[in-house]
Amino acid sequence: MRSFITKTVANMPPSGIRKFFDIASEMKDIISLSVGEPDFVTPWNVREAAIASIERGYTHYTSNHGNPSLRRLITRYLRERYQTEYDWKTQILVTVGASEALDLAFRAVIEPGDDILVPAPSYVSYMPGVAFAGGTAVPIETKECDDFTVTPEALEAAITSKTKALILPYPNNPTGAVMTQSQLAAIAPVIEKYDLFVISDEIYSELTYGGNHCSIASFPGMYPRTVVINGFSKAFAMTGFRLGYAAGPEDVIAAMLKIHQYFMLCAPTASQHAGEEALRHELDTGFAQVNKMVSDYNRRRTFVYNSFKKMGLSCFEPRGAFYVFPNISGMGMTSEEFCYRLIDEKHVACVPGTAFGEAGEGFMRCSYASSMENLKEALKRIAEFIDECRK
Ligand code: PLP
Repeated sequence: MRSFITKTVANMPPSGIRKFFDIASEMKDIISLSVGEPDFVTPWNVREAAIASIERGYTHYTSNHGNPSLRRLITRYLRERYQTEYDWKTQILVTVGASEALDLAFRAVIEPGDDILVPAPSYVSYMPGVAFAGGTAVPIETKECDDFTVTPEALEAAITSKTKALILPYPNNPTGAVMTQSQLAAIAPVIEKYDLFVISDEIYSELTYGGNHCSIASFPGMYPRTVVINGFSKAFAMTGFRLGYAAGPEDVIAAMLKIHQYFMLCAPTASQHAGEEALRHELDTGFAQVNKMVSDYNRRRTFVYNSFKKMGLSCFEPRGAFYVFPNISGMGMTSEEFCYRLIDEKHVACVPGTAFGEAGEGFMRCSYASSMENLKEALKRIAEFIDECRK
């Protein structure tokens, strides 16, 4: 019998993160810094809202767009936090995680033959998502010396007549880089000059340290050509609720809705009620719960970053998300070898930088979404390993 699987899917390598995560989950005495989700349990008021939703019998589909009350809160949130104004009726689509919103944006915008620029290293799903939508992902290598940001020069050099869109992944997974208002202002004219669309993945927008997140959609010239992707997984520790959203130009949201209404119908109803509670509570309390989590992450970030510096490694200081991305290129082995040996010899799981594209060679991703106790033990073991490698 012939294979019925498409070449695009058959040829797609499995996620490099999953590989390390799976090894880690089968070992005893392992400390895993490989996960990309908050270690906090979802705040109780949010869990209670989901329970209440089910108890009250809200067990049906919602509007394809998402509940109006949730969409209104999302627009309030985007206005108050990022100074962007959206019409809740036509410019917001509630999705199954930021993941679905990304997939919808790719399928609504990309046609065969289109090139999509993807800063690298970056989140593992962009390249496969672009390929599944029929496009070609073209990496723009971001460098440690540029704080892993996209410079106007690198952007312009990567553009050809086939380029249709740019994915803007900040705060960045895996580097922890952010792009400031002035850095975004520097690339905006290039985006306009070549008439590109922007898919701005802002899922880590709440997790920034020492400066608030700036959304590229807050620039008047960028607003009509940007779809913002965000969600509840990271800021509100709600990964399992699978709740996200897209905010953007009416025609793009309408196109995304068309796909969503045929195949997803709506995001889970109880999750939408939980998301409403999360947003309402935080907006009304000056982001009390989020700020508490952010200050905890910040303590761990400082500890992990300083620990790598003490080991004598070059390490970019992350300013967002919950990852540190130390440079291990001087260790005499590839990132993948380093991570395999680290897991094998010291029972610490980190993710090789190459899981996020070839540009990640020479680095590894360590998540600090883990208890301080775990982090201390893991960093002690990593320091021992590095000492042994240097001998
Ligand atoms: N975007 C980035 C950069 C991520 O790191 C992740 C998850 O790790 C996602 C999107 C997916 O988020 P969600 O859980 O909302 O689907």
